[in-house]
Amino acid sequence: MRATIMFGAGDVRIETVPDATIIEPTDALVRVTHACICGSDLWPYNQLEPSEHGQRMGHEFIGVVEAIGADVRTVKTGDVVVAPFAWSDGTCVFCHEGLHTSCLHGGWWARDGIDGGQGEAVRVPQADGTLVRLPVGEDDALLPSLLTLSDVMGTGHHAALAARVGPGKTAAVVGDGAVGLCGVIAAKRLGAERIIVLGRHPDRIALAKEFGATDVVGERGDEAVERVRELTGGFGVHSVLECVGHNQSMLTALGVARPGGAVGRVGLPQHESIPTTLTTFFDNITISGGPAPARAYIEELLPDVLEGRIEPGRVFDRVTSLDGVPDGYRAMNERQAIKVMVEL
Ligand SMILES: [Zn+2]
Repeated sequence: MRATIMFGAGDVRIETVPDATIIEPTDALVRVTHACICGSDLWPYNQLEPSEHGQRMGHEFIGVVEAIGADVRTVKTGDVVVAPFAWSDGTCVFCHEGLHTSCLHGGWWARDGIDGGQGEAVRVPQADGTLVRLPVGEDDALLPSLLTLSDVMGTGHHAALAARVGPGKTAAVVGDGAVGLCGVIAAKRLGAERIIVLGRHPDRIALAKEFGATDVVGERGDEAVERVRELTGGFGVHSVLECVGHNQSMLTALGVARPGGAVGRVGLPQHESIPTTLTTFFDNITISGGPAPARAYIEELLPDVLEGRIEPGRVFDRVTSLDGVPDGYRAMNERQAIKVMVEL
């Protein structure tokens, strides 16, 4: 079969790899119909050390179950399924607590011999815990939005929960990438009265407004903090969704939180430490977040997608084939596309 391999920074190729097959009785074999490129894939795209074997890519996909192992109970051949960006058994102590990314028997796609989502097929370990059956056909118009339940919509929702968004509260979203845009959707969905988006790309800002952003701050750094404070009576916001991961974006996120506020961080941290420890201490700022347990949120978010209350699939502004994946990386890296969907 064919799959995406990254051999080093900027070097993405579609190569022939061993066919995915059932190995464990808890596996399912999924033929991928839809995948996508993640903002987090751009970190290795800019930094990966060159290697001869490269690394498989992709952690967001929807597909059709082609075969199941003897112990699989919750999905069957022919089912259309979505996979969250980490696989998990659904039965261990952390899965029961809703923290599937810390599953004792789980792991990550495209690592340690597990297939990646940006390929023709995937062996899905722990299929009963990992996969969620979707009540749609494989060419349904809702598939782009359903695909975001793999990662970005669940991640935006996680940021909003970690930032303690709630009815009547004011929220700020740092970052206007696909996760930030889904964070706007999540904040509105959880009842935020006012949603300030910090970003400066016109196409993304326009979408943020359609998703429910009430204010836009295009400044950066100290000026952005000042502007948000101006908009909030000098206090800052109750809830901050940090959707980038840079030191600067974290500084901004902490700077716009009001005393007693909460920062939910879902951008992969690119620095060792969290800044402004003394200020945030005296302001009683809660700093929370991490990799979203997307699996925990799929059932909760699914009805809103199926009934059209949220349309996170609008973050996909480019569609390509598997052969177009290398150019999709380039387009996202050069900010020519917000998020690229791959149709197989
Ligand atoms: Zn588990």
